[in-house]
Amino acid sequence: MTLADKPEEACGVFAVYAPGRKVANLTFDGLYALQHRGQESAGMAVSDHQSVTVYKNMGLVSHVFDDRTLASLPGDLAIGHTRYSTTGASNWRNAQPVYRSVGPYGFAVAHNGNLTNTIALAEKIGMLPGMVSSDSDLMAELIAMRFPKDKPDSVDPSIKPGEALIDATMEVIQDLEGAYSLVLMDSEVIVAVRDPSGFRPLCLGKLEAGGYVFASETPALDVVGARFIREIDPGEMVVAGAFGVKSYHPFLKSKIDPKLCIFEFVYFARPDSRLLDQEVHGARRRMGIYLSRTLPVEADMVMGVPDSGVPAAEGYAYESKIPYGQGLVKNRYIGRTFISPDPSSRVSAVRRKLNPLSENITGKRLVVVDDSIVRGTTTRSMVKMLKAAGASEVHLRISSPPYKWPCFYGINTPSRKDLLAAKYDMEEMRTYLEADSLAFLSLPDLRAAIGFEDGFCDACLTGNYPTFISIEN
Ligand code: SF4
Repeated sequence: MTLADKPEEACGVFAVYAPGRKVANLTFDGLYALQHRGQESAGMAVSDHQSVTVYKNMGLVSHVFDDRTLASLPGDLAIGHTRYSTTGASNWRNAQPVYRSVGPYGFAVAHNGNLTNTIALAEKIGMLPGMVSSDSDLMAELIAMRFPKDKPDSVDPSIKPGEALIDATMEVIQDLEGAYSLVLMDSEVIVAVRDPSGFRPLCLGKLEAGGYVFASETPALDVVGARFIREIDPGEMVVAGAFGVKSYHPFLKSKIDPKLCIFEFVYFARPDSRLLDQEVHGARRRMGIYLSRTLPVEADMVMGVPDSGVPAAEGYAYESKIPYGQGLVKNRYIGRTFISPDPSSRVSAVRRKLNPLSENITGKRLVVVDDSIVRGTTTRSMVKMLKAAGASEVHLRISSPPYKWPCFYGINTPSRKDLLAAKYDMEEMRTYLEADSLAFLSLPDLRAAIGFEDGFCDACLTGNYPTFISIEN
């Protein structure tokens, strides 16, 4: 489901190094494939080996860039970003990439995730709270502070270009806590880093014509014709430049603790993304299969809430042998973003986005499959809408466990008091939602559907945060 009553994504990152090839259009295509991860602003930084040029603005990728803008961005290495704000205001200043120039150097940073020690880091360098506009901005500041004033000696004879950026990044990430999948660039190299828990995805691909691509999700590699090589490991830093690619492991082994966000599988990632060596669509379908064994119900039709509830609904129908059908049509011209400041306008948003297929549902007992419930306001409104359109019963089945805790790792969620599952028990939730029955997938079944027992963050479902969360968050 793609309404405000969902955890909301927090950015997509893309980077490309393609020697001798103009990459602004490739970067546009990559960002376009990552649009679902953030729709507030978009931007790219491009280098022609002389200087780094940044272009960014508020809006969707296709609104920010046009042919003329792309033609004005020469260069064969670039990073790009699509943003959904989780820290910092939604304004141009916080759009990314963030750029800094230090003496003869210029570099740019694009970030997916949220730091959990932003305030402590800012205090350490004497910044007052109001001076930090976002955690990404602070990161750029920390890196800039570590740039040498003069060109330093090479730390690695095989990599001369970009050495200042590589050294500074390697130092700064030792102090960062929380979630960051980063791409950085100067005039010569791309640097890609994933935090030691690997909360947010980041993968590496190779262009047939030569060069490398980094992206939050694999469809961004597909669209630019890059072959998937592998995911960047948690705690790994990979540098791409004229020398090819080079991998670094800057953290102590004891710090590495893989905790990929389990909601990437449930909702955030595109269904055609590959994560942990499998297509997300298949995992969602299996979630539906397991879900059908939880609280079985007699019904006439299984339907999914468009779009992200659909694969699980297919799995549910397959396993339960209840026919699958479409009960809601989504207005395909409305983007994924919907930010309503108050609950009453959020309710009307459901009607703007979804409309029932009355002939398909009249008189039917429906199993309605969705991926998650956060506040519950839109789900409640949708149940009412289906019943008003003629459904005789609505049985809600949710392909993830109850969402009870806020996220601090780059996903925008309301505070605990607004999370339906934190306020109510199962029967109270069912009553509030006006559903005839309600069931959620269990955590063991969710893990089984994904095919891995460990290696996930599930803090929003369990309250077990993998990193220390200070009270100031
Ligand atoms: S708290 Fe939830 S949404 Fe946030 S990273 Fe962990 S699993 Fe993902």
